[in-house]
Amino acid sequence: MRVQTPKPLNIPARLWSLEAFHSHQAGDYALQALYFGVVLAIAFYNLMLFFALRDLNYLIYVLFAACAALATVAMLLFTRRLLNTTQMVPRIDLWIKVFMVASAAFFFLLMLWFWEVNRFFVVTNLVTSLLILGTGIACAIKRQRSAYYFVAAFSVLFLANVLSHLRNLGLVPTNVLTSDGLQIGSVIEMLLLSLALADRFNVMRREKIAAQAQSLQVQGQLVETLRASEHVLEDRVAQRTAELQAVNRQLEAISATDALTGIGNRRHFDAVLASEWARAARIGQPLAPLALGLMDVDWFKEFNDHYGHPAGDECLRLVAKVLSEGICRTGDMVARYGGEEFVFISPATTCKNAQLMAQRVCAAMQALSLVHELSEFGCVTVSIGVASLLPVQGLISYDLVKAADKALYAAKQQGRNRVVAAA
Ligand code: GH3
Ligand code: MG
Ligand code: MG
Repeated sequence: MRVQTPKPLNIPARLWSLEAFHSHQAGDYALQALYFGVVLAIAFYNLMLFFALRDLNYLIYVLFAACAALATVAMLLFTRRLLNTTQMVPRIDLWIKVFMVASAAFFFLLMLWFWEVNRFFVVTNLVTSLLILGTGIACAIKRQRSAYYFVAAFSVLFLANVLSHLRNLGLVPTNVLTSDGLQIGSVIEMLLLSLALADRFNVMRREKIAAQAQSLQVQGQLVETLRASEHVLEDRVAQRTAELQAVNRQLEAISATDALTGIGNRRHFDAVLASEWARAARIGQPLAPLALGLMDVDWFKEFNDHYGHPAGDECLRLVAKVLSEGICRTGDMVARYGGEEFVFISPATTCKNAQLMAQRVCAAMQALSLVHELSEFGCVTVSIGVASLLPVQGLISYDLVKAADKALYAAKQQGRNRVVAAA
């Protein structure tokens, strides 16, 4: 065996027995087969991922893995050829192993102009590896998860590369770790890169789930806000409705009240008379004769003229008070009919009872002793005509008013300050 080189060269020479050499070769084949099996499995796995996820990264990675494998296959085939067929030139096997890190393109250049590109290749390989590593580290510093795997993968490859170079320079001994370091390193590198892709997939899936959860949460908040504003709106509507109802009741009360005396007005009287008349008609006899009294202040014109209008108003207020205090059973109703005339309605009341009620009012008025110098009684008095009718066929509610008015006229005729019941 002869070796000639202008540079330092490591030629691990070993003397084999024929059997030992064959068994070593078989072991070496098994290792190569395992390597390509793993490479193929990873390539196939990533190809499947590409079909499943339609992520171009996987296809590109498959292409990369296939190319790397192809380059290595070509290199190894060439190496095998040399080893198996040219046992006579073991030097060439060594040279190829020294530059197994070269790319496929560089491989041909190396085979053609080895001495010319040798130094350049080592430098570019080192620079490229450092660049790849530097890029990976920069991304890792920016907390890109995939970069951790990437840096780990290329660190392994880089270490394997360095080890390989050191071995070629004779700085480390030749063993399985240093001679097959690149293959071991590239398998670990591919595994780590596959892990990086799987992790990327996981991160994307988690981000998708998080985004979905967030959109669900936002949706929930929107619904909650909508519901809350709906409640606020409902409350406001309810409040406004209650206010409106209160105002309506107030308006109703105002429209039914006489402003001067505070008792019912003529409109209220008309409405109550109609409804009580109808109710009495429904109940029928003999239970429900409807009684009505018409009351008129005696010589009120003279009172007004003598004491003045404000005093007259005050007098009317007092008369209304006495009337409402005297006619106060449940269902009874008093109102100002107009001017100094008042009216009361008593449901289910006979004429006799109505007359008694009216006499009480008459007496109470006199008992009040409101001075009226121009009256022959010396005080303000009232005359009342009462009537009671069963709402039978042929009669209308106003017949009751007419009957009471007739009785009132009679009371005036008979000398005032008295009650007269309709015949
Ligand atoms: P009689 O005993 O026959 O009923 O005589 P009178 O003077 O009471 O009868 P008349 O109907 O002639 O007078 C009613 C007076 O009532 C006339 C009017 O000045 C007065 N009057 C009507 N409404 C009011 C009112 O709201 N306030 C005041 N102060 N007076 C009123
Ligand atoms: Mg009158
Ligand atoms: Mg009068």
